[in-house]
Amino acid sequence: MASTRTTRSAAPGRHPADLVEMGRLLRTQPDAFPAASSQDDAEAKAERHDVVVIGAGQAGLSVGYHLKRKGIDHVILDAAARVGDVWRSRWDSLRLFTPAKFDSLDGFRFPADPDTFPTKDQMADYIESYARKFGLPVRLNTRVEALRKANGRFGVETTDGFYEADQVVVAAASYQKPRLPGFARDLDAQVFQMHSREYKNPAQIPAGPVLLIGAGNSGAEIALDLARTHNVYLSGRDVGHVPFDIAGFLGRKLLVRLVVRGMFHRLLTMRTPMGRKFRSKMHGHGMPLIRTRPGQLERAGVRRIGKITGISDGKALADDGTKVAFASVIWCTGFHSGFDWIDLPVLDEHGAPRHRFGKSTDMDGLYFAGLHFQYAVSSTLVSGVGRDARRVAGWIAAARKG
Ligand SMILES: Cc1cc2nc3c(=O)[nH]c(=O)nc-3n(C[C@H](O)[C@H](O)[C@H](O)COP(=O)(O)OP(=O)(O)OC[C@H]3O[C@@H](n4cnc5c(N)ncnc54)[C@H](O)[C@@H]3O)c2cc1C
Repeated sequence: MASTRTTRSAAPGRHPADLVEMGRLLRTQPDAFPAASSQDDAEAKAERHDVVVIGAGQAGLSVGYHLKRKGIDHVILDAAARVGDVWRSRWDSLRLFTPAKFDSLDGFRFPADPDTFPTKDQMADYIESYARKFGLPVRLNTRVEALRKANGRFGVETTDGFYEADQVVVAAASYQKPRLPGFARDLDAQVFQMHSREYKNPAQIPAGPVLLIGAGNSGAEIALDLARTHNVYLSGRDVGHVPFDIAGFLGRKLLVRLVVRGMFHRLLTMRTPMGRKFRSKMHGHGMPLIRTRPGQLERAGVRRIGKITGISDGKALADDGTKVAFASVIWCTGFHSGFDWIDLPVLDEHGAPRHRFGKSTDMDGLYFAGLHFQYAVSSTLVSGVGRDARRVAGWIAAARKG
């Protein structure tokens, strides 16, 4: 079968907004991998498994753990050089907003004081040791470039060979491709801009006022980090916040359990009317602020402004009438699903999978893990992904028997 896929590349001289969108400013550089010399050759040499899992983050590893317990042959493919690199690549000062007692994957406790908030590198090392502890069959430096049907099975085309499987789990996260608003192109090409995914620390950002666009959890936490060295405007609608201090004594000892286990895991699920309502409200708006509190932003000197509606004379116009001059922009505007490599009729008009609790509603044998609100708010959290993974592994086992 001849491949119809072409390698995307970012042409020189493009507007920086295009480069952010195309992934050129990101660490992931698909172009860095050589293409297979011949698609037919690659398919003929296919490596065959019962199940291929795509993604070795917490979601893919959780699926691997449950498949392994059931004795099901599988392989877990990941583009990264090291398990945990998604966490390692996040900004330097990031600590999890969930305390260690809610940061364990199934079968292995997070090795830290349960009431402390792990750093992003501790989390990266934990999931790396999770893969090692259970001997999960992870193949690194293996980016999946296409998923399609081949020879009556699933065909998985990667940068390091071709795989065939009876069943496939996509655990590559819903948050792969930075999303930018249309007016990104109205910015002067000289303005320094990056997506939150590229942000590491204030030293990256030139002197002068910084406009953070998007006031969800990432926007608010990056605003606090940057306010130590820069004048910061945080723009976007108020997404609400957890009504107590999650890092305070009572928060850590008691209240965080109510939020993470009670609300996010048990109450706000696809099986409850409240959960379904919350899900549709959350759609496109993200979670309420979990750890950052509005007063904290104010005390740090972060100036809250409305939603940016456009750019005029080099200034940003907000829907509350504010007009601000800025030297840099950080887009905290979220992500597209980034599933354009799935060459199967299983995605909706927004590129998101049609599924019920992670099982494709269009194609037998295809599953997802770690999707935004896959079953509950906790589906994308460390503490919740195991339940979804267990369910997926159960379906896979049942399909093999049937
Ligand atoms: C800033 C931030 C802070 C967070 N803090 C918390 C927290 O405190 N507590 C909590 O419970 N949750 C937190 N989360 C949510 C969640 O735990 C993380 O987003 C987590 O990384 C999601 O895990 P995942 O396995 O679904 O996806 P990822 O960690 O993104 O892993 C996906 C994997 O798939 C691989 N991949 C992607 N595409 C391909 C492809 N085409 N081929 C091969 N491999 C591919 C990637 O390399 C990656 O390794 C946070 C999220 C963010 C963004």
